Amino acid sequence: MPENIRPTSRDVPLIQLGVYQCRFPVSEDPSVPGGYRFCAGPTSPDRVYCDHHHGIVTAVDPRRTRSGLQPAQRRAA
Ligand SMILES: [Zn+2]
Repeated sequence: MPENIRPTSRDVPLIQLGVYQCRFPVSEDPSVPGGYRFCAGPTSPDRVYCDHHHGIVTAVDPRRTRSGLQPAQRRAA
């Protein structure tokens, strides 16, 4: 079967997304409900996006980083 399986992005329609799968739209597809396919990469229980897309979303929305995440909580490894 010729399937294009990428490590972090599987282009899944919304109706096939599971609870802990990334909901970041990665491509348009008019043939699926909603018109988009989604990343569906693994997420943490408290996130709707995978690590990769979570970084993108928080980067473009500074309000989210101020109200939610607090960089000060990070501890040096
Ligand atoms: Zn993702």
